[in-house]
Amino acid sequence: MNERHVGAPGQVKEVTSLANPLIKDIKALALKKFRDQQNAFMAEGLKLVIDALDLGWQIRTLVFAKAGRGNPAVEKVAARTVAAGGTVLEVSEKVLVAITRRDNPQMVVGVFSQRFLALRDIRADNGDVWVALDRVRDPGNLGTVIRTVDAVGAKGVILVGDTTDPFSVETVRATMGSIFAVPVAKATAEAFLAWRGGFSGLVAGTHLKGAVDYRSVDFSRGPVLLMMGNEQQGLPESLAASCDRLLRIPQAGRADSLNLAVATGIMLFEIRRGALKLEPIADQQ
Ligand code: SAM
Repeated sequence: MNERHVGAPGQVKEVTSLANPLIKDIKALALKKFRDQQNAFMAEGLKLVIDALDLGWQIRTLVFAKAGRGNPAVEKVAARTVAAGGTVLEVSEKVLVAITRRDNPQMVVGVFSQRFLALRDIRADNGDVWVALDRVRDPGNLGTVIRTVDAVGAKGVILVGDTTDPFSVETVRATMGSIFAVPVAKATAEAFLAWRGGFSGLVAGTHLKGAVDYRSVDFSRGPVLLMMGNEQQGLPESLAASCDRLLRIPQAGRADSLNLAVATGIMLFEIRRGALKLEPIADQQ
């Protein structure tokens, strides 16, 4: 392993061996057990890493491909990593492919500390929207919901019960960077129900047996907690009973239900309808 300076106030380690212990630790982040042990996760792409740093996430390791050497944006991110006390690794294509398990990996990968919001720290003011996901299983669904929560300006996501990991590679990819912008809390169903008791706004559940058309509800008063059910089973009785309203999205055709992320998107855009305005598109000339 060589060390050199890149104009950053620190060193860059050059790594070409898959047997390097630093690389082994990063590769292990593909498994939840090791993500939990290290309390870390991996995010791919230069823009994502820059956004994460801008949003104050703690970077532990920056990995970049040899091709990034001399690239001003990569060098800047390397300098920020060193300044934040992180390690910078310049690696071969082979190492980057092994870390990301992709044939055409991004030029930059960042390893960050995980961060969960505590339920007790959630303060819901008027206009705030929170989404509670019951036992979400699919990383693509969870990532898409987090991305959509970000897009509509909702406040965050509460994972209820045994769920897929928001910091898995698949979920982080599906968030397209929104993992860094959207606070995520997790709770057992019991802890969530206790917290819900103190929630002052409207608790809107969605259910295939919901009696209320989601378009008939006034979401403009007070905060809203949107509750979405598990992909296979929907909301269990205990959670459904804790909702102020059970809403349904009318459907035509043969499909029994909508995909969880699609249903969440429809609900969020309805709830936030009054708050969202079309911004003029900036002149590209
Ligand atoms: N078989 C499950 C059931 O019986 O509820 C289907 C669950 S569906 C794939 C996942 C979640 O998306 C539901 O629990 C609900 O929160 C929401 N959802 C999907 N389609 C919906 C609809 N038409 N109206 C209301 N919520 C819906």
